[in-house]
Amino acid sequence: MKIVLFGPPGAGKGTQAEHISNMYGLPHISTGAVLRRNIEEKTQIGLVALQYIERGRLAPDDVMMDVLKMELSGCKKGFLLDGFPRTLAQAEALDKITDVDVVLNIEIDADSVVERIVNRMVCSKCGKNYNKKIHSHTACDCGGELIVRKDDNEEVVRERLRVYESETRPVTEHYLKQNKLAHIDGHGTIEEVFERIKQALYDYDKK
Ligand code: AMP
Repeated sequence: MKIVLFGPPGAGKGTQAEHISNMYGLPHISTGAVLRRNIEEKTQIGLVALQYIERGRLAPDDVMMDVLKMELSGCKKGFLLDGFPRTLAQAEALDKITDVDVVLNIEIDADSVVERIVNRMVCSKCGKNYNKKIHSHTACDCGGELIVRKDDNEEVVRERLRVYESETRPVTEHYLKQNKLAHIDGHGTIEEVFERIKQALYDYDKK
């Protein structure tokens, strides 16, 4: 299966991706995580991406296409894309490379996004997300250090939401026309949202 996880920052894409990837045995490709790895390793892609990420802006489409092609090269049987596409140009470029089966659009209101993101901690090793309000962990289950992402503060989150509304949300129209869009209510617990996702994938399978 070729699945795209779509939705605003803080919708729970990363967390749900982990569950979906475990259950369906799909490689999880998070373009944000790839960029953060590049920033850490001080690569050319990382140097470019940093300027955008810190300001809550989208990295340029040509950079993202290079990242995507590299990541997809080992995923012939299927994948779970998390955080890509984020612009119409990216969606159209993706169509030229492969046929996506279903786009899970996780919907959540802006206040819940801000609340989740300002309380988010992420493992510096495996990328797993934790919520300070729910978890009292000081380290990740994998032993990695929990850190706060540079772009996870209220000011940058508001900008990321603004960019989402203007550049990313319109991409849903593209997939709606292709009859590939499934709406998922992103409110509630991780388990509740995952149940909705499983139902949507089951419904897709029956189509
Ligand atoms: P994420 O981890 O998905 O929240 O992504 C973190 C940041 O990486 C985003 O706010 C963007 O600056 C950048 N980014 C990730 N994926 C993309 C993409 N497909 N297009 C442009 N920028 C991206």
